[in-house]
This record gives sequence, C-alpha cells and structure tokens, in this order.
Amino acid sequence: MRRLEELQFDNTYARLPAAFHSKVSPTPFPAPYLVSFNPAAAELIDLDPRESERAEFVEYFGGRRTLPGASPLAMLYAGHQFGSYVPQLGDGRAILLGEVRNTRGDKWDLHLKGAGQTPYSRGFDGRAVLRSTIREYLCGEAMHALGIPTSRALCIVGSDEPVRRETIETAAMLVRMSESHVRFGTFEVFYYRQQPERVRELADYVISNHFTELAAAEDKYQQFLLEVARRTARLIAKWQAVGFAHGVMNTDNMSVLGLTLDYGPFGFLDDYRAGFVCNHSDYSGRYAFDQQPAVGLWNVSRLAQTLVNLITVEEATTALGVYQPAFAAHYGELVRAKLGLTTEADGDAELLLDLLSLLEANGVDYTNFFRRLGNFDTATAGARHDELRDMFVEPEAFDAWAARYRARLHAEASADAARKSRMDAVNPKYVLRNYLAQDAITAAVERRDYTEIERLRETLSAPFKEQPGRERYAESPPDWGKRLAVSCSS
Ligand code: AMP
Ligand code: MG
Repeated sequence: MRRLEELQFDNTYARLPAAFHSKVSPTPFPAPYLVSFNPAAAELIDLDPRESERAEFVEYFGGRRTLPGASPLAMLYAGHQFGSYVPQLGDGRAILLGEVRNTRGDKWDLHLKGAGQTPYSRGFDGRAVLRSTIREYLCGEAMHALGIPTSRALCIVGSDEPVRRETIETAAMLVRMSESHVRFGTFEVFYYRQQPERVRELADYVISNHFTELAAAEDKYQQFLLEVARRTARLIAKWQAVGFAHGVMNTDNMSVLGLTLDYGPFGFLDDYRAGFVCNHSDYSGRYAFDQQPAVGLWNVSRLAQTLVNLITVEEATTALGVYQPAFAAHYGELVRAKLGLTTEADGDAELLLDLLSLLEANGVDYTNFFRRLGNFDTATAGARHDELRDMFVEPEAFDAWAARYRARLHAEASADAARKSRMDAVNPKYVLRNYLAQDAITAAVERRDYTEIERLRETLSAPFKEQPGRERYAESPPDWGKRLAVSCSS
C-alpha cells in the first residue's frame, strides 16, 4: 500500500505529441474538504486508504498541489452531440492528472473533474457542482458492482466556492478513474481536421496500450474497430438488461474501451417505460431508453468513419456487422438469466416482450419485479403469487403471463430453489434510483451531511445481496421522486 507521494505514474498520454492535449494545471479550490472517499477505488491504485485522512489528500485532489510524478493535461476531442458534429470539445473542466500503474500492471487514469478552466472550456467555468459529482461518484460504483464496465471514482473534494447554474450551487471536484478516457470523439477530431496521421497515431496508441492482443495482427485496425463494436454492443446490452438510461450518448461520451463514461442526467428505470427519457433537455427523445442499442451502432459507425485511411469500406462494414448480433446474443443471454431460464426455446422472445408490455401497461417497477420473480413457485398456480400480482393494476393479465412462464419453467424442469439463487445473483435488489441519489444530494448540499452518500455507496456495492435493515433502498420511488427531471446542467 502506497502513500500519495509514492504513486507510480506512467503518463503515456502526456508523451503523445502536443496535438493531442494541452498541458494545464487545476485551478485550486480555496479551502478544499473531503466529502467522500472510496476505499475500493484506492485499492486499484495501491493507495493506502488511510491516506485520505492526511491534510495533503484534499490539497492534491482539490487542485492545490501536484502529485509527484503527475503530468496534468486536458485531452482534446470533438464529437457528435445530438446528431450534429461539434468540431472541438475536449476536456473543458476535467484534467488528466496522470496515469498510475499498480503492482498488478494495470494502468488507471486519475481524472480530476471540475478542476477549472482549460483551453477547451469554451467560455464555461470549468467547474462541476456537488450535485452532479455525487451522482457520478455513486453511479460508477453502482455499475461496477452490477458487473457493468464503467469508470470508477476515488473521492469527492468539496469547496464553498459558488458556481452559477440555474441557481447558485457549490462546486466540487471528483477524482474519476478509468483505464482510458479516449473517446470516439478523440478519433473524430483528427478525422474532421483531415489529419489522418494523427488518427493513425491515436489508433496505434490505443491498440498498443489497451488492445495489446491485437498489436501484432496484420489487420489490427479492423480488429480494433470490430472489438470496439463488440464491446459497445455488449455494454449496451447490459444497460438494457439492468434498465439503465445513459441520457447523453454523444460520441464524445463513448469510451473506446466499451465502458460507461460521463455520467450526467442518467437514470435507472423505476416503473418500466421503453421510451423513458431521463435527460430533460433531450426534447426529441434521441437518447430514450429503447433507442440506446441503435444509437450505439450509429456512434460506432462515426468511429468507423474516422478510420477510412486505415481500413477499407468493406473491412469497416464487416467490423460494424458484429454489433447487432453481439447485442442480440448478449441481451438474450442476460434476459434469459433474469427470467431464470437455462435453455433457449422458441417463444422466449415473445414471453419477454409480452412481459415488458405488461410491466409498462401496469406501471410496474422493473427492478423490483424481476427481484420478486425469483420467488416464483412452480408448484402453485401463477394466480397465487400475491407479491407479484399486487404489483399489477390488472392482476389477471399477470396471471395469464404467469401461467405461460410456469409452463416454460416446467418444460426445462426448473428447480425453484436453484433458480431463485441464480436469479438473485443477476436481478439486483438495489440500484441507484434517482430519488435515492437526490436524498443524498439534498443532505449534502443543504446540511453538509455526507453520511447518506456513504450509506448508498455501501448499499450499492452489494446490489444482489439481501441487506437487512436497508430494505428502504429497494423501494420504488415515493410520489415526489417519480418523475424527477434531471437537468443536463452539471
Ligand atoms: P458533458 O455534457 O459533461 O459531457 O460535457 C460536454 C462538453 O462540455 C465537454 O467538453 C465538457 O468538458 C464541456 N463542459 C461541460 N461543462 C463545462 C463547464 N462547466 N466548464 C467547461 N466546460 C464544460
Ligand atoms: Mg462528456
């Protein structure tokens, strides 16, 4: 376990040519304080968790001191935002402090979000509000525990510095960690600037650092695209299965490693709604829940386009061709597991789609339905499953579906107890519902009470486990929390 000053930096991105970034240091907070610290993330960089108690901790992560060996910079990128190309974005408020290599050889970017202005700030203040920082902090951990590839977060450092959004709010910095922060948009910026050599350099960099198994392949660029397509498809399959809506799937928020990146106005489904739009600035519903799989492919196609000088159109088309089957296969696998099925049969897709329609028509909570479905008793008629039936406005409609489900389980000789333990391992009890995040935010912002952040972080780190005394975190939202519009401002 290392002290802060002993972290082993290996700043590969800083060694890329100047065209890729701007060397810039954080703008310090005047009087930083620790809001929350995540020991699980500290472990990833071999950092001794007791280091969070040192006064220097918030100095380093509140922008007042530079860690020995760090080489802070802002990454350049562009991206398609809501379908339109924006020629230059880049880290306008996040600074890559450096890359830490742990004793296992893994490399983690330490990215300080809310670190102040950079050359890419486009006139904005470079800050992040405590509210959005808490959401990103918690969701990274929640997704990780759900088995979904994601950025992580080490800590939140607060400040009394005011920032102006719709109202005046307090600023905070988040130390985000990811194996890489390269985005589809990082490729796009050089493609649209007509700098094919830069695209090649970036592709070589990403492949040699993150797709090492492809480095020696003759067709490595095609293989790279294929692998990004596959990973993106699988990632989005996981989002769909768990009921996660990202909210802002612009290409600048898409990780080339296939991880969930840039948590903004995201939302987990409460009651099931295929067309759920969590971002209240998304007027056309471009990033609605049920649009995500198609948007993922559209986004990978934007990445493919940037590789025109490295692969042929046919090679690109072949690579993109893996997306749809990879999505369908993985989603199928995930939802069969959610239903507790161990075999594939004709009619499974229909069984699922009919269930989703029923959930939607009856306003049934998605997470809680699947969790309770684990208790399904094949010996009794479906009609006697009160804890499930009671979730439906029209219980008879559920009864009819339950009879089909029961027959399907009988057909594969499903044993109740074994099925329940399988289902409990894939159907979470706890997800980061918007209203839960909002409770933690309200306590933090209004009362400087950070205990709810801790409780939620702990609860969400074991989403599949029954946690006696914490059942309230599994409740569907109270009325005030049902239609929380999440602002894009952050
Ligand atoms: P996001 O919507 O957070 O993915 O951000 C889109 C782009 O806007 C990124 O380039 C951000 O760095 C930039 N950005 C967002 N908020 C700010 C801010 N307060 N100050 C500077 N840049 C920002
Ligand atoms: Mg972003």
